Amino acid sequence: MGDVQRLFADVAALLPDMRRNAASLDRNAGFPWDDMEALRRCGVLVATLPCRVGGLGLGQELFDLLRLIGSANLAVGRLIEGHVNALWLIWRYGTDAQLARAAGDAALGHLFGIWNTEEPPGVHLQDGALSGKKINCSAAVAATRAVITVGHPDEARMLMVTLAPDMSAGAMPGRLLGMRATQAGWIDFRGYRPDAEDWIGQAGDYMREPEFSAGAWRTLAALTGGIGTLGEMLREQLRARGRDGAPWQAERIAQSLIAEQTAWLWSRECARLVATDASAAAMTGYVNLARRAVEMAGLTMLELVQRSLGLSAFVEGNPAERQMRDLATYLRQPAMDEALAEAAAHFVGHAMPSSL
Ligand SMILES: Cc1cc2nc3c(=O)[nH]c(=O)nc-3n(C[C@H](O)[C@H](O)[C@H](O)COP(=O)(O)OP(=O)(O)OC[C@H]3O[C@@H](n4cnc5c(N)ncnc54)[C@H](O)[C@@H]3O)c2cc1C
Repeated sequence: MGDVQRLFADVAALLPDMRRNAASLDRNAGFPWDDMEALRRCGVLVATLPCRVGGLGLGQELFDLLRLIGSANLAVGRLIEGHVNALWLIWRYGTDAQLARAAGDAALGHLFGIWNTEEPPGVHLQDGALSGKKINCSAAVAATRAVITVGHPDEARMLMVTLAPDMSAGAMPGRLLGMRATQAGWIDFRGYRPDAEDWIGQAGDYMREPEFSAGAWRTLAALTGGIGTLGEMLREQLRARGRDGAPWQAERIAQSLIAEQTAWLWSRECARLVATDASAAAMTGYVNLARRAVEMAGLTMLELVQRSLGLSAFVEGNPAERQMRDLATYLRQPAMDEALAEAAAHFVGHAMPSSL
């Protein structure tokens, strides 16, 4: 068995436990320490890194990896997606020495966050020290490394930070409806003094296209897994209650399969497209369309589950209730409408890349 095949076999073996753990993590707002440790042991934390620094150089296979993990627990899917994103940015824009350092840290089990969202006026550098707060940070209390953006959004520079237990951090003031196990919180970087070798790339690299927009395909992969799981729950529960035979339920079962397949086709095509030599505008435009397509598929699935299972889907303890909250929350991604408008502006005069 090859290394990539072994990785997939090992991850597949973890999924039933991850699914089981999801309920108690949500109830107790716990962080998925056990799941993350199990994934680390399989090699997931380094799998996307190039082979020369100890990774497996996963390419399009990452689509299935994120989809599988997202199918077991969307919160864990988000954490791994963030970790992979941070490492990828270091690989893409950092020096060889920075990549080697990050790879070494990941191999030791350090979880990376990618934290861009901030409380106004944002995180800035002045006289060698940072000021400002990052918010909505997944794994705020669990990540020991992160890539953060510093400076005005248009010309922000990425910084690799080391999180110490004594840093000023905490939970967001209001409890999130779903994705609670990501333990999103805030971190106050006031007084943090970066070293010269911690700065990644140049000002503006974080927002550079097509990477900035097209990178959303990884989130879509994890979401696709979660949409599929909700569809499975819908069908399982209808069967268990002997309600799957009614023609209106059969129609909704069919619609749920269409929603799952729609998400899968769009997001898998994004994973394929970003590895081609399509133009930056085509790539970002296509992924922007896919974001809306997957959002629509997810919202459709939520409606189908509510209509098909009725009130039972709103009872705590029903796994579909938690899955709906996680999915509804994770679907809220930034600037969805702006992304759609940009895609329309491009494709009104250009062919879709998938039809070339
Ligand atoms: C599970 C989860 C984990 C996350 N983890 C992280 C993390 O680790 N790091 C991080 O940096 N962030 C993280 N985020 C936060 C994320 O990056 C965004 O802040 C968040 O997803 C934005 O969602 P939103 O619906 O509020 O988007 P918005 O972009 O605010 O969109 C909401 C609505 O407002 C509209 N809108 C937006 N801008 C304007 C405008 N200027 N004028 C008029 N209308 C406007 C949109 O069209 C949309 O209708 C996470 C989010 C989630 C859901």
